[in-house]
Amino acid sequence: MQDQLSRFIFENTPIRGEVVRLEATWQSVLERHDYPVALRHILGELMAAAALLTATLKLDGALVLQIQGDGLVSLLVVECNSDMTMRATAKWSDELPVEESLDRLVGNGKCVITLLPSEGQSYQGVVPLEGDSIAEIISGYMARSEQLDTVLWLASNDRNAAGMLLQKLPDQPLQDDDDWNRITQLGGTVKPHELLELSAQTLLKRLFFEEDVRLFEPQEVTFSCPCSRAGVANVLRMLGKEEIAKLVDERKRIEVHCEFCNQRYEFDKIDAEQLFVTDIAAPGGETRH
Ligand SMILES: [Zn+2]
Repeated sequence: MQDQLSRFIFENTPIRGEVVRLEATWQSVLERHDYPVALRHILGELMAAAALLTATLKLDGALVLQIQGDGLVSLLVVECNSDMTMRATAKWSDELPVEESLDRLVGNGKCVITLLPSEGQSYQGVVPLEGDSIAEIISGYMARSEQLDTVLWLASNDRNAAGMLLQKLPDQPLQDDDDWNRITQLGGTVKPHELLELSAQTLLKRLFFEEDVRLFEPQEVTFSCPCSRAGVANVLRMLGKEEIAKLVDERKRIEVHCEFCNQRYEFDKIDAEQLFVTDIAAPGGETRH
């Protein structure tokens, strides 16, 4: 089955939801770095959460979801674009215990969500890390920062990363006060293996068999890292010709490493000189004709 995100609504209520299941996308992240077991599952859940949030915020652009802490795991980052391409990475110190709770791994820290629309201002929301799961942290963020009642369930193993989100639409009063409680309680009966293994259709039927659920066409999710040699060259040009020449003299070559996809870009002396002989004037660089 393809990696998919599916949206659904509960008819005649202001409640909507999404389910996502990632396999190839998740495998693309795992095969690029040797993540310790304890960290892997958190990162998988964070990927599923980022896909769900990107879809729910109806953003045209990119969403960057970060967990920063002072513990053994200092950083988890997932980037998801509105076309549902994603990438992820993490920073951790040498030895991680195999079994460890999220708050002990990450320590004190914050959850940062950055929205980078294709046009217009970027937006950043920050909340302290409260809760002992990614799902709790994200629910807390949505309540505080977006004032949206949102509940999530996430799961991840070495094969899949998956999740489900339920949200009460703002500014639309519930006709029946009990709807939200009943539907989130039904959602709460979901088991991790159901999220990881069942299709959206089967999952929703199993959880909400007495509810009137409308499931929309799924959207495909894929791994993609937009880094490129040309992009790295642009960054190097900004350092300026002299600085680059100095770096090449010291180290024979400049190596730049993309932390998301693990791609290495090397620039030797000739490549470095080539950076500054294009016709396009680059900031901080000189242009020769
Ligand atoms: Zn990359």
